[in-house]
Amino acid sequence: MKKSFLGLGALLLVTACTQSPKAPESAVDKAPLLTSGIDRQYFDPEVRIQDDANLAINGGWLKTAVIPADKSSWGAFLELREQTLPQLQGIIERASLNSATNAESKKIADLFYSYIDEPTLEAAGIKPLQQDLDKIAALKNKSEIAKLIAELNRIGVTTPYEFYVHQDAKDSTRYVVDLSQSGLGLPDRDYYLKDDDKKLKDVRTKYLAHIEKILTLSGDKNFKQNAKNILALETALAKAQWTKVENRDPVKTYNRVELNKLETLAPGYDWNAYLTSSNIKGKVDYVVVSQPSFITEFNRILKATDIAVWRAYFRWHLLSHYSAYLSKPYADENFSFYGTVLRGVPEQEPRWKRGVKLTESSVGELLGKLYVAEYFPPDHKARMEKLVGNLLAAYKESINTLDWMSPATKQEAQAKLATFNPKIGYPNKWIDYSSLLIKSDDLIGNLNRATIFEYNRNLDKLGKPIDRDEWGMTPQTVNAYYNPELNEIVFPAAIMQPPFFNIKADDAVNYGAIGAVIGHEISHGFDDQGAQYDGLGNLRDWWTKEDHEKFEAKTSTLIKQYNAFSPVPGYNVNGELTLGENIADNSGLAIAYKAYLLSLNGKPAPIIDGLTGEQRFYIGFTQVWRGKMRDEEAISRIKTDPHSPTQFRVLGTLKNQPGFYKAFDLKPEDKMYLAPQERVIIW
Ligand SMILES: [Zn+2]
Repeated sequence: MKKSFLGLGALLLVTACTQSPKAPESAVDKAPLLTSGIDRQYFDPEVRIQDDANLAINGGWLKTAVIPADKSSWGAFLELREQTLPQLQGIIERASLNSATNAESKKIADLFYSYIDEPTLEAAGIKPLQQDLDKIAALKNKSEIAKLIAELNRIGVTTPYEFYVHQDAKDSTRYVVDLSQSGLGLPDRDYYLKDDDKKLKDVRTKYLAHIEKILTLSGDKNFKQNAKNILALETALAKAQWTKVENRDPVKTYNRVELNKLETLAPGYDWNAYLTSSNIKGKVDYVVVSQPSFITEFNRILKATDIAVWRAYFRWHLLSHYSAYLSKPYADENFSFYGTVLRGVPEQEPRWKRGVKLTESSVGELLGKLYVAEYFPPDHKARMEKLVGNLLAAYKESINTLDWMSPATKQEAQAKLATFNPKIGYPNKWIDYSSLLIKSDDLIGNLNRATIFEYNRNLDKLGKPIDRDEWGMTPQTVNAYYNPELNEIVFPAAIMQPPFFNIKADDAVNYGAIGAVIGHEISHGFDDQGAQYDGLGNLRDWWTKEDHEKFEAKTSTLIKQYNAFSPVPGYNVNGELTLGENIADNSGLAIAYKAYLLSLNGKPAPIIDGLTGEQRFYIGFTQVWRGKMRDEEAISRIKTDPHSPTQFRVLGTLKNQPGFYKAFDLKPEDKMYLAPQERVIIW
């Protein structure tokens, strides 16, 4: 439900962001005190910004930068993310020195050690999984599968469907359980179903070989037949799945089903066993089923598939879930498929980095508390609060001036804007991990207990008031998000660093970089999905019919613009899948620009490095998107990632900004030029 600023991995940052009101003023007369914050070393002087802003500003970097061997992509965001890893490693090392006297430090240190201690993992083999393997082997008939799915859900193993707890989109004062489709080992249904796509077909063939290898390692003599059956079963589930575009529809995916009516969706399925074993029973009267037809089809597939195939399927997913944390042959085979085949990455990250990420994903807020104390000075938070306030003020003014929207819809939009809740840096209240048991010699046990801890923490929310202090990202994450149900915009501490925010630079680049990030997150509240929620977080249509039609006309033009972008020959961006992010990029930059102009208080911006303030604003935006990606990763993202590839986040966004045309005096003969009637201006 949350929308992040970046796809997988990296994000942004800033440092401090207030503008100092005096600086631009005095800079007009004197030599500027602040730098431009622009990295000219990355420019390609042979390309004009008016023809391709991404190549002009990032082209020098693109010509020479090499994606590190352990990465599927590289760029400004990922460099920043990479910088936080040694910081976190240092935190873990210092925690180990304190572990005799501090229980939280001990948890961090023991968890990390349990992963780093390879001899123990090698000696254990798959013994730590034996109990669960035995449970699967003991499945006698299909009526026991509901209970097994509940048990595997609890430890995070992939099963045909899963549930999560979040706010009820039709009554945001309460928590609800949402049942959703799942069950695949490949990133998207297209990997199973597209026969006309050579690359996806090739991945599918290699996936089959990968299943065979993992089964072989685990001692399965019938690995060939089992792997074939598993792929066939997953293909049947893939066919039943809704597409990622269908899943973007918050109305169609909201299907309230009373517990006693689940039977009609999946006749004969042992819902009672599932609800009891998963501990949902007694806590809710109804669930929200995201894809009802999938549940029905799953039940049909369940009946039509032999129990031996189901045993093989669950065994495979159990092994696959843990392979990265088992002995070397499993971990290497897991990487060679999920790292190299699917994402094109030649080498595994060094073990310490993987250990840091594991610690991060299991007890992230324990690390976060220490990270904030060390790397996030209190004044950064205050400065960011001010910048967010400026962006919200610009949004407010902008809504008033929209020429296409009626006063009635504007009033609703203003009401929603007024209830936005910004969260900056780190949570007010940290997760209490004291009941979580971590042992220095039991990695799989640690992973299980950490997953169950999180499972129970979520389940415990049912029936309780909404927790408005909770965070969906750790402070050390270089990213940001919007959550429509809480109507909140959230900026973790780690995004508040250069190149997102550069304290030594003039305001223009900062408004173009972190300002656009803030504008992006606010705009998610008004993108094609967010605009269906009101300020209380309820799905409620607050648009007049006429305004809604105008909004749709604008967004359908945006869909067409992005459909035309192709990052890899033969693969085009999916304009519908990426629509929400593209709206957020489009409107976020437009609002950041307005906020920048407001910050000038009617005075001209200084010229720095021969560039006007308006030019530096757009260059600041563009330079955070310098990035390159391996083809395998790009294809996988096209199928799964709601964000457009970075070069199109630049080109697709800038082409629609009136301020960009003015700043660089674009003419119809320039390659980035769109006729005024083709430009999409929304918020
Ligand atoms: Zn976003």
